[in-house]
Amino acid sequence: MREEQSEKMTLTMESHSRNEAFARAVVAAFAARLDPTLEELEDIRTAVSEAVTNAVVHGYREQPGEIRLEAEIQGRTLRLAIQDWGVGIADVEKAREPLFTTCPQGERSGMGFSFMEAFMDRLQVSSFPGKGTRVEMEKRLGAGEGYGEG
Ligand code: ATP
Ligand code: MG
Repeated sequence: MREEQSEKMTLTMESHSRNEAFARAVVAAFAARLDPTLEELEDIRTAVSEAVTNAVVHGYREQPGEIRLEAEIQGRTLRLAIQDWGVGIADVEKAREPLFTTCPQGERSGMGFSFMEAFMDRLQVSSFPGKGTRVEMEKRLGAGEGYGEG
């Protein structure tokens, strides 16, 4: 009989743009034990990048703050959570719409949440103005299906 084992990791980092690359490298290394395809890995890396960038740019408005990254593998499912204690989002539904951005004059295109949604199987955003934002994502990896778990 096979039990779906769960493995977890948590990382706390400072809100700094250089940690976008760091966070996606950490998640990629963690997800590597699921033997993902290059495409799956790229999807995961992009989703993590978008979420961490949002925490740095919007959540903390480039000011110092703490970002927490949680990752869990259960069976062939990768679950991620990116959390900040920044300004929060007043209307999450609106924020998730493609092309919606509160920084139209900058280089932002309002596609971050759309990418996260497209590249992962599930996206959940919980946010409270003045309290912060938690983004949860899930992706089931298909590569190696039926192998390596016996
Ligand atoms: P892009 O990601 O394409 O550079 P963007 O960041 O504006 O542009 P999304 O990532 O889709 O687009 O986010 C939409 C909007 O949601 C943001 O403009 C911002 O107002 C809000 N938002 C997203 N994440 C956070 C967060 N962690 N804290 C506060 N506001 C956020
Ligand atoms: Mg964004």
